[in-house]
Amino acid sequence: MTDGSINLRDYIRDVPDFPKPGILFRDITPLLKSPVAMSAVIDRLAAPFIGQQIDVVAAAEARGFIFAAPLAIRLNAAFVPIRKPGKLPFESHSLTYDLEYGSDTVQMHVDGVAPAQRVLVLDDLLATGGTVDACCQLLEKCDAEIVGCAFVINLKGLGGEQRLSKYKLHSLLTYE
Ligand code: AMP
Repeated sequence: MTDGSINLRDYIRDVPDFPKPGILFRDITPLLKSPVAMSAVIDRLAAPFIGQQIDVVAAAEARGFIFAAPLAIRLNAAFVPIRKPGKLPFESHSLTYDLEYGSDTVQMHVDGVAPAQRVLVLDDLLATGGTVDACCQLLEKCDAEIVGCAFVINLKGLGGEQRLSKYKLHSLLTYE
């Protein structure tokens, strides 16, 4: 099977009412079982950023990590994890952001990025954009330059594209 013949939609499983009633969960685990499809995903995520001098691929846990590490290797860049509070062992920067109810915090090691480094932010899926927006704010607080944000899946209509409109967005699969 060649890259061009792979329809990634065939590798995403729809799970209704998970994790709660009314949510249609886009499950990437069938994709993770196929090395050929995963290789196509990494190639397609990387394509617009080849030659763009990406220094760092940054991603929030947990599913973002799965794609960000091989993407970083493909782009000859560092992989920098962004995590929930209390998970990183070294001194960290924090950013707290508002949720519909309450707030959340993301953290990154203080030596994760250097000022002016060019960063690609990655997540498996774009919904409201809150997760990646928080990652971008944390990275910008450290004077990194966001070159773009890449996603395997874009769930249109949930406001993510609008929320992240100041960044170059790249997604492989769109669901209306
Ligand atoms: P958001 O911050 O609203 O853009 O949400 C993105 C994060 O939530 C991603 O890391 C996804 O893994 C997860 N997510 C949100 N909605 C879904 C969904 N319908 N199916 C699978 N994952 C989702």
